Amino acid sequence: MKSIDQLDIQGKRIFLRVDFNVPMDEKGNVTDDARMRASLPTIQYALSRNARVILASHLGRPKGKAEAKYSMGPVARRLGELLKKEVQLAPDCVGPEVEKIVHAMKPGDVLLLENLRFHKEEEQNDPAFAKSLASLAEIYVNDAFAVSHRAHASVEAVAKFFPEPAAGFLMREELKYLHRVMEDPARPLVAVIGGAKVSGKLEVLKNLISRVDKLIIGGGMAFTFLKSAGIEVGQSLVEDELLNTAREITETAKEKGVKLYLPVDCVVAEKLEASAPNKITPVQEIPQDWMGVDIGPATIILFGEALQNTQTILWNGPMGVFEMEPFSRGTFEMVRHIASSGAVSIVGGGDTDLAVHKSGKASRISYISTAGGAFLELLEGKALPGVEALKKK
Ligand code: AMP
Repeated sequence: MKSIDQLDIQGKRIFLRVDFNVPMDEKGNVTDDARMRASLPTIQYALSRNARVILASHLGRPKGKAEAKYSMGPVARRLGELLKKEVQLAPDCVGPEVEKIVHAMKPGDVLLLENLRFHKEEEQNDPAFAKSLASLAEIYVNDAFAVSHRAHASVEAVAKFFPEPAAGFLMREELKYLHRVMEDPARPLVAVIGGAKVSGKLEVLKNLISRVDKLIIGGGMAFTFLKSAGIEVGQSLVEDELLNTAREITETAKEKGVKLYLPVDCVVAEKLEASAPNKITPVQEIPQDWMGVDIGPATIILFGEALQNTQTILWNGPMGVFEMEPFSRGTFEMVRHIASSGAVSIVGGGDTDLAVHKSGKASRISYISTAGGAFLELLEGKALPGVEALKKK
């Protein structure tokens, strides 16, 4: 796969697919520009080579029609502030008017196309739409790793129209770290998997079980595993239809010599409310009417010990209902353990990313992926259409 710095882009028109799908408040201000900042190195590199930079992204789910609330306008304004230069907003992402603006661009100009998803053809991976996008530029660069699990026109079909489609620096960095985990990790390699349900991460668990040395399971999904081992878990989140699957994963771990860690105690609450009465209990003593909402202090110590002397840590999914302050300790303690482990740590997924940033220890994590779905699909062992499209023909 080529990356942007291996191409001659001097003065050229670059179609740069970015992920500027950022959260906004009701007044239309960008409330978190992390995804934009993540692609600044690629944009700035292109500008330093006097390229004409045409940026394209989707924003929200406008369902194939133009809608003012999904306009890229606020993103263009914020990007102008970040780059300290004018960022022009195109009235659309394809069509004669856009072509006219593109052809009037001078070296070093930045144009942001209007929301790609204002056209239903984007999500349909439509070749004609992709061709219109491609006609705007001489070079195609994809820096939107977080969207690369989608076979969408600006991510997949468009790349076919360029002899040398290339990765931006963010894309390259994401793939570097994720390949390091999946292909040739320093061992012992441990995966910490949490979050709500087993069903959401079944393929991840099945794929990882033959790759990792240790597997730590926390969060809501741990209760399906505990129940599958004959432990009564009260009102905790359980997927009864996956009890057998949980047993199979436990068996596979045993066969492959993978050490599997489950919570030994937990915080239980009467209801899933921050103000509900809560207490700590061994998992064997979860009261009938209560539910497990976080890992307990003994589990925090256990998981911390399991992380000792590991070389690579992969983490996805919170250890408890961390959005509620009384049930957030397990997740934040996990960040602390990982940050101080000395291992290469790779963290991904929207919630996990949020927890790490909230903890203030983000700088001590080796790599925080910007992706949710794409991160998980890579851990599932799937090929990502947007990444495949960049590979040499
Ligand atoms: P996921 O998207 O699968 O990573 O799940 C993230 C969600 O899992 C967060 O919103 C957490 O509140 C939720 N979660 C974590 N632990 C539990 C638990 N013990 N019971 C219910 N939900 C949980």
